[in-house]
Amino acid sequence: MPSSLVTLVDRRRCRDLASRLVGISPCDEHFVPSPRNPDAEVRIPDFHLAWIGICQQTRSLEGVVDGIKYRGSDYLVHRLRARLDQEPDRFTARRLRSVTGDELRSWLSDDGDPDSSTVDRVDERVALLQDMGERLLEGYAGAAANLIAASKGRLEGRAGLLERLSRLHAYRDPARKKSFLLVQFLRTAGVLEPVDPDALGLPIDYHLLRVFLRTGAVQLKGSRARELLRGGEMTEAEDVRIRRAALEAGRLMGEIVDLATLDRLVWMVGRNCCFYDHPPVCTTGPCTLEANCSLLQSSDLECGLRCPFDGTCSGSRNPDAAAFRAPWFDTDLY
Ligand code: SF4
Repeated sequence: MPSSLVTLVDRRRCRDLASRLVGISPCDEHFVPSPRNPDAEVRIPDFHLAWIGICQQTRSLEGVVDGIKYRGSDYLVHRLRARLDQEPDRFTARRLRSVTGDELRSWLSDDGDPDSSTVDRVDERVALLQDMGERLLEGYAGAAANLIAASKGRLEGRAGLLERLSRLHAYRDPARKKSFLLVQFLRTAGVLEPVDPDALGLPIDYHLLRVFLRTGAVQLKGSRARELLRGGEMTEAEDVRIRRAALEAGRLMGEIVDLATLDRLVWMVGRNCCFYDHPPVCTTGPCTLEANCSLLQSSDLECGLRCPFDGTCSGSRNPDAAAFRAPWFDTDLY
């Protein structure tokens, strides 16, 4: 019998989950750090295009920036923001076109020594950066600001920003994870205000996917479901299909909480309360991870040592759902 996969989005669950986030504010400066060096201001579009373009599979990253410990993509953005301040031209297209693995390692190490960097998938990231540099030089006189200006504030359509971004290899994702994240960051940085913001969606990565599956916002059915919910490997087509269901869940939740807030809070739930390294905190009693919690570090949430979704989420009532893993897909898209 051929294998089958059905994706369902639970509208009511989405609304109930989103209502748990009303009134919680993420801190913009944590997610979208501003350059401290005034000369770096004009390079903000280049900076965000570059770091988000290599923001995939960031589990290995960790370090300290300005006395604060960061991990994963938090480290990526804060460490590279510090590098931008040191040298505002560092992420221009001309530099990216010829970037080397050792340069990337040096940017992503606390002391600047390539040997102390924890970055992985270096060849993959370097190829994405070089491609970005090449294409910006070819089509936009080497400046991300020109790429943004060419779209005239439109996201959709052949001349819109999403289509233009999709011609960069780093931004080719059919579910547009990096593109949606980039637009969100450019909006927060005050660099772009789209005329068609309804074209935006959640940047779906493995943290959001895991939370949506455990909460029951997105449900998998059919003969493939059991294997995928154990963290089994999915095909490229399955990946797009499941993440498009997650986009629909995000669209429904976005009717209650704005998309940037929704993304930042759900993502932080995924990498703290519901991280893959430990049992979901709702299954183990009051949370003991407060000292290292980036959800608390990055928002004004007063959690009471409980996950914000506890009680509404399937995983908080059903141990089988709490044990779901995000299906695995080895990709540079997210
Ligand atoms: S309530 Fe539990 S299973 Fe649900 S998102 Fe929170 S930690 Fe994860």
